[in-house]
Amino acid sequence: MIFLDANATAPVRACAIRAVAAALDAGGNPASVHGLGRAARGRVEDAREAVAALVGVRAPAIVFTSGGTEALALALHEPGGAVLVSAVEHPAVRAAAPESEVIPVDASGIVDLRWLRERLARPPTPAVVAVMLANNETGVLQPVAEVAALAHAAGATVVCDAVQAAGKIAVDVETLGVDLVALSAHKLGGPQGVGALVARHPERLRPLLVGGGQERGLRGGTPNGPGIAGFGAAAAAVDLPAETERLTVLRRRLEDGIRAAAPWAVIWGEGAERLPNTTCVGLPGVSAQRQVMALDLAGVCVSAGSACSSGKVGPSPVLAAMGATAEQAREAIRVSLSWASTAADIDAFLAAWSPLAAKAERREAS
Ligand code: PLP
Repeated sequence: MIFLDANATAPVRACAIRAVAAALDAGGNPASVHGLGRAARGRVEDAREAVAALVGVRAPAIVFTSGGTEALALALHEPGGAVLVSAVEHPAVRAAAPESEVIPVDASGIVDLRWLRERLARPPTPAVVAVMLANNETGVLQPVAEVAALAHAAGATVVCDAVQAAGKIAVDVETLGVDLVALSAHKLGGPQGVGALVARHPERLRPLLVGGGQERGLRGGTPNGPGIAGFGAAAAAVDLPAETERLTVLRRRLEDGIRAAAPWAVIWGEGAERLPNTTCVGLPGVSAQRQVMALDLAGVCVSAGSACSSGKVGPSPVLAAMGATAEQAREAIRVSLSWASTAADIDAFLAAWSPLAAKAERREAS
């Protein structure tokens, strides 16, 4: 299979598989005081250092969780007041703050900073502002540092979902100036079911899971030692900025090929700064479902809209927030590259996708 659905989950790096297997083989509970326990604890702490280094913080800022969803739920737990979330946030944010007010986005999918500034000047002052770094469907990057400056000036805490950005572009928590950052191992070549919340002020967090006091009382429950070891290995293997550059070249090849086959295709967020691995392309007259199925028959995996809530082939709220009609949203597929993607993968995609475009053009002409 040609796997071009990395924003759903990236292939697991060999070093991560080895680290998971070694930790499973070694055993031990990180909380135990005996030698096996201390060794397990050592693996968790090594991983904490590696994940912290990936995002430019010190190890104590990292709270390991069961994934990005739990990290976001922890960040948004008991916010202490009104919450503002962008219109393009992942369902993990929207569901964790169901009463939130929505920050609109423009046609490129970028948050409206003027709206935000005006809203922050009006009571009730929001307690939390949540804006993602990179969108999972379009790859569009948000002006997070500017959002953080505005929110902090109004006294609000800033939550940033960097699940899709980490490992593909540089993520520096200090530069972004945000308070809480969510990460997920399986989007950067680690195992599924493990993630982290980066907290610049961990003492301000209220735990979601209470129990044995693990993760300094911020996340009860025996940590997923093998998963965390795999997360650490994957984080340490990320090679930026070389990876960003490699992905940028591959995506250019992809989008040039799309343009050559179907100049009328819509690349969502094309004019905006985007992740180098993500292309959300709409092919007028051809449903995403048909495109995904035709590509699947050719052995190419892509997704329709967001595959994070898997199996769903419904119109995307992200594209709707960018002004897409329901029909346009239904015609968009997401092609997302990983650390393992090659130029041959792109060519295989184009060989399978271009005939769909040609067929749609013939249908249009007849
Ligand atoms: N945030 C974004 C932007 C995502 O793409 C995903 C993907 O699933 C999540 C959060 C949830 O992460 P996880 O699958 O680790 O729970």
